[in-house]
Amino acid sequence: MTDLRVYDPFEKMQFSAQNCFLCGTSITSEQRTPVFATWLQQQYNLQQKELLLLDKSVTTFGDLTIPCCDNCHLHHIIPLEEQVEAAAAQGLAGLQALEEQKLFQWIGKMYYGTLVTELIKEADPLIRPEYAVSENPKMLGKFRSFYQVLQSLRVPMVFSDFLPCSLFLVEVNSTEDELPFEYQDELTTMAFSIKLGSVAIVCSLLDNGIIKRALGRFYRLTQGQQLHPVQLAEVKARVFYAAYIFNVVPEYFERPTKPGDEQLVLDTLIDDVTNEVFNPWEATSYAHMLEEMLKPWSIRKQHLMPELNQVISFIADTSDHFKPMPHFNKEEVLGHP
Ligand SMILES: [Zn+2]
Repeated sequence: MTDLRVYDPFEKMQFSAQNCFLCGTSITSEQRTPVFATWLQQQYNLQQKELLLLDKSVTTFGDLTIPCCDNCHLHHIIPLEEQVEAAAAQGLAGLQALEEQKLFQWIGKMYYGTLVTELIKEADPLIRPEYAVSENPKMLGKFRSFYQVLQSLRVPMVFSDFLPCSLFLVEVNSTEDELPFEYQDELTTMAFSIKLGSVAIVCSLLDNGIIKRALGRFYRLTQGQQLHPVQLAEVKARVFYAAYIFNVVPEYFERPTKPGDEQLVLDTLIDDVTNEVFNPWEATSYAHMLEEMLKPWSIRKQHLMPELNQVISFIADTSDHFKPMPHFNKEEVLGHP
């Protein structure tokens, strides 16, 4: 019989090197799984590449591993990684053909991998971080909701009529693209992006697809186009900013199961009565986000806002059509050096 019980480490704040991150089983400290899969590390030469953690400590992609029992590693993590690896080898089309739930789990595992690393550190009585995420009840509630849907990695689970996240897949033109691999995540807003060769996946992890609907018209402009890396920066800025002003946490409910059931069905609810779904969109703070994403091109915020309350777009022209950008010329685009 299929075991449909979900594990909840938040119930007893069970974060340690001796508990599997996915099922809670007691393990030895040698039993671990890489946050960034071995195939990813090999393909993009990431083993020695540095990675900044939330507490500002530095690790490498190769060294970042999380506690994981052999069963979860072999039966849940490896098969998923194999599927994503095969899909990614087919580029954009391959990743688009992959079930969205799989992509969610794949991204979710990497996101949770960095989060749980932080939670394990905070559980250490010798470490007293200045801003412990585990001491923020609102954040903990959000992480706990996320963990419920992440359990779909292990427990056969159907999301009744939703996907927990918003996924944006875009293709990047290689002409002026210097980074074969790029990765970024925001622990508190749960925004995530990863670039694998010519494909970038940008994701807001716990919004039940609301951000994708909100950015629908904009996202459609990018489909079937090859974006310049500057345009990708704008996609990231829009999604990361939307996740930043996203103001609600979806709740998930398990439908009761009976013996013989092979999968768990999850329903969801968003309380949009007590809270507005989005905090107000503010041009200046969005421009700040865009400036952050455009750091490699040193474009300053004042250049992004030629007029008050207006932020320029590298993707949409004034009549809301796609602006092709085969090359980026700062002076030409911004009208000044
Ligand atoms: Zn396990």
